[in-house]
Amino acid sequence: MPRPYHSPLTEQDQPMPSYSNRVSTFGTTIFTEINVLAQKHGAINLGQGRPDFDGPNEVIEASIAAMRSGKHNQYAPGSGTASLKKAVADHAARFYDLDVNPESGVVITSGATEGIFSSMLGLVDAGDEVIVIEPYFDSYVPNIIMANATPVFVPLRPPDWTFDRAELRAAFGPKTRAIILNTPQNPTGRVFTYDEMKFIGDLCIEFDVVCISDEVYEHLVFGDARHIPMASIPGMFERTVTIGSLGKSFSFTGWKLGWVSGHPDLIAGVGRAHQFVTFASHHPSQEAAAVALSLPGTYFEEFQEMYTTKRKLMLDGLSAAGLKPFSPEGTYFIMADFADVFDGDALEFTQHLVTEIGVACIPPAPFFAPEHQHLARTQARFSFCKADDTLKQAGERLAKLSR
Ligand code: PMP
Ligand code: GLN
Repeated sequence: MPRPYHSPLTEQDQPMPSYSNRVSTFGTTIFTEINVLAQKHGAINLGQGRPDFDGPNEVIEASIAAMRSGKHNQYAPGSGTASLKKAVADHAARFYDLDVNPESGVVITSGATEGIFSSMLGLVDAGDEVIVIEPYFDSYVPNIIMANATPVFVPLRPPDWTFDRAELRAAFGPKTRAIILNTPQNPTGRVFTYDEMKFIGDLCIEFDVVCISDEVYEHLVFGDARHIPMASIPGMFERTVTIGSLGKSFSFTGWKLGWVSGHPDLIAGVGRAHQFVTFASHHPSQEAAAVALSLPGTYFEEFQEMYTTKRKLMLDGLSAAGLKPFSPEGTYFIMADFADVFDGDALEFTQHLVTEIGVACIPPAPFFAPEHQHLARTQARFSFCKADDTLKQAGERLAKLSR
């Protein structure tokens, strides 16, 4: 078994004998580690994807009103409030022309993180194989392990971060139960094209596989890139559960509210797991999320414009410092190759950047299986969900690298 989630920074940690075997390979998440390091050294923290600004005020007001009304301070229905489930279905129809059943086709979860975990527990059996595209969001592999299933890795490779079609096909086999996909993709910033999505969808159909499609960055796409939901690929609605997040689309990561939508047969499995993971999610936030998902198109346009500016600031700062960034097609992350300005691996670079330059980033090794970590040896991830001034200041500090 690989050692997923085991950050190289805590390699010295020894599992305590009191741990279950299931969690004995899990180290501290890289996000927590970098947050601690950044704080210790007063670095500008471009590590964790954590906006340093608030989401829309009307959503905050809706949350406060929900609490004050006295009607939303006790348990919500387990699968979510009727108004939020309807808002999730309406949003899928408005943006993607998808026909989601607002009653049996949606489960509201405590963040996308719980949505992914409940999907894994509700759709995958012990001994099944689950295909994971690397670099992956760091909870996926521990989730697969906690479901007693086996991850099968297929890497995206720099500089384009595309997958090899023959390699992906070869990962599918008789034991494959699911693939977990993320588009727009954290950490690379890739937005898979229609052709790529169709290729993956066709493999799912051929091998009778379910897709857990993590689309939390659906509203963060740039330039000509278009977000293609897996559920919109012909034949895939019946095989896909789609994950969304209030934290990402509305900049409320602290509220930890998400949703899983799809065909009722699959959602029934997700709901069965969800009821014994959290039972129900935060009730006042669900009232506010229904307002958020119903915001007019201008909200989503302005959101993209705001991030287009931030993306440029970050790209300019990284390029001026002598790094080679991949221009992200989506998300608020940039992967950049630092080989021209630093001799060493990503962990050494991160430590140097935090302690000597005053900027924190994420070394991407924990997003790969050990056998593929070398692919990103000279890459680091930078988050640009920060105030413009913070990004400019980070750029000034990064400039010290090129001297
Ligand atoms: N998936 C991806 C790709 C993410 O980047 C994140 C960010 N944490 C999540 C899922 C989890 O989202 P949430 O905060 O809603 O749990
Ligand atoms: N999604 C965020 C990121 O990739 C972090 C979320 C977390 O800390 N689990 O930076």
